[in-house]
Amino acid sequence: MSIALAVERGADCTGTHVGAVVVLGNRIISTGYNGTPEGFENCQDGGCVRCADSKLFKTGMANEMSDSHHVPGAGLDRCVCVHAEQNAFITAARFGISLDGAITRHGARASAVSKRPSR
Ligand SMILES: [Zn+2]
Ligand SMILES: [Zn+2]
Repeated sequence: MSIALAVERGADCTGTHVGAVVVLGNRIISTGYNGTPEGFENCQDGGCVRCADSKLFKTGMANEMSDSHHVPGAGLDRCVCVHAEQNAFITAARFGISLDGAITRHGARASAVSKRPSR
């Protein structure tokens, strides 16, 4: 979905950039991209210590990492970055938008946000 790819351009994480849109019927009711939470310094600017360490490792500057044992793909408990879908859900909640029956889309994937049990 090209709109998810457009949203992805807002991602500020130093890792993979992801954009997500939440769709209900044919309407987009929320969007989100991955990066540090609101109120934090952007990931690209050092807002996440773990992502900064991964970037340093990948660019051959491991000697400057805050955790000398860090390797990319590990230490996820130190990452403060929020997933694209999480940001889309948080935005919907902030504005009181129900996600009942909605699906998320990013790239070619789609998944249900919530599904009521059938009676
Ligand atoms: Zn990040
Ligand atoms: Zn991070």
